Amino acid sequence: MIPVTTLNGKKVALFGLGGSGFATARALVAGGADVTAWDDNPDSVAKAAVEGIKVADLRTIDWNGLSVFVLSPGVPLTHPKPHWTVDLAHAAGVEIIGDVELFVRERRAHAPDCPFIAITGTNGKSTTTALIAHILQSSGRDTQLGGNIGTAVLTLDPPKAGRFYVVECSSYQIDLAPTLNPSAGILLNLTPDHLDRHGTMQHYADIKERLVAGSDIAVVGIDDSYSSLIADRIERAGGKVMRISRRHALADGLYAEGSRILRASNAAASEIANLDGIQTLRGSHNAQNAAAAIAACLAVGVSAEEIRAGLKSFPGLKHRMQPVGKRGRVVFVNDSKATNADAAAPALSSYENIYWIAGGLPKEGGITSLAPLFSRITKAYLIGEAAPAFAATLGDQVPYEISGTLERAVAHAAADADRDEHESAAVMLSPACASFDQYKNFEVRGDAFVSHVAAIDGVTMLIGSAAGGK
Ligand code: ADP
Repeated sequence: MIPVTTLNGKKVALFGLGGSGFATARALVAGGADVTAWDDNPDSVAKAAVEGIKVADLRTIDWNGLSVFVLSPGVPLTHPKPHWTVDLAHAAGVEIIGDVELFVRERRAHAPDCPFIAITGTNGKSTTTALIAHILQSSGRDTQLGGNIGTAVLTLDPPKAGRFYVVECSSYQIDLAPTLNPSAGILLNLTPDHLDRHGTMQHYADIKERLVAGSDIAVVGIDDSYSSLIADRIERAGGKVMRISRRHALADGLYAEGSRILRASNAAASEIANLDGIQTLRGSHNAQNAAAAIAACLAVGVSAEEIRAGLKSFPGLKHRMQPVGKRGRVVFVNDSKATNADAAAPALSSYENIYWIAGGLPKEGGITSLAPLFSRITKAYLIGEAAPAFAATLGDQVPYEISGTLERAVAHAAADADRDEHESAAVMLSPACASFDQYKNFEVRGDAFVSHVAAIDGVTMLIGSAAGGK
């Protein structure tokens, strides 16, 4: 745990006692802050009270004496409308921050030079975060991995010289971290997502920009126009920028050419790594992730040789284009993490003759952007709330059925794929939707897919039984 010493003796209010909120409350108490915590969920409040955390309804406390208000990133700060605690904090003029901000303040106070890599973007954050941590760890460095990837940042070991931090940041976490200043910051890409919580694309992009604008070195994927403009802006303001592209050669920066990653400086390029044969880094989206990881590792002093060794041994992440089972010519692929159309595109591009399971809680734009990939889909099996809208988009371009549940979708897709006469087929869950209409989260949805696949007669599983988590 990282005790939050910078608020020692100060009065702090905290709202949101889920996983990271609870960890934050404990870290504040351990550092000597006088914390009052609350949550809308009585069970979370009761659990905190049992742990000795002072709890009280934040409508009843005096906000004027507070040093800061700590908000969980899951609670709306601005959109669709500010949470009631946010209104109270604003009325009392109390600063609102989150756990990542508390971490950066601790780092500044105790070990300002310890390398800190922060990662954001619409897609590829977790893969890039895990890849960087793997490269650092496998080269023998003391590495702490956390943030949005699942381990609350304040549960990590405290900052000290020589310790490396790799922290995935969602836009919500950046929004609550006004002094975020990583040694290397990565912005992978920007496409519309979470606009329900950010209002407009520009507001969403502005938040993400703050992570790289505050970095000693900004690593920016410039394949979309928002990110490209951000890179230009940071450079114009005198910041150091390392550009990344998965699509174009660059005069300065890192770019992918097929599976090769090249490093260019003053228009002279040389290969720094080759991803050919690395199963866990298939596809051009992973070339973007790998190039960003390489740039950040170079920025914090990792050698090219150490980076190449780490890339080769990267074990990959669960629920991301993960082949989980096989029956004859049919492979079953768990890509449950693809919670929007952009995230589903890489999986659809990587296979042919696809029996595609999609749907859930729909996102802005639906699946219209996937139309160029429809020819790879033999049949679609639609589940959850998005099914009727997706059916309308598929129209007469792709045969589909409304399966309703994942279990029925897997059974029907497996049976259809079995009858198919192609050389190979893929039954793939790549839902292009959030999971919350039917599952607690994408991990539970992916695990359910795995267990439905395992229940099919004659399937050989390609993974162990512990399919959950990251
Ligand atoms: P995040 O943490 O940002 O949600 P992940 O690394 O967990 O991203 O990957 C989620 C899914 O997004 C993957 O299954 C893959 O289909 C897709 N994806 C991964 N990297 C990229 C990328 N760089 N660009 C576009 N899509 C990507």
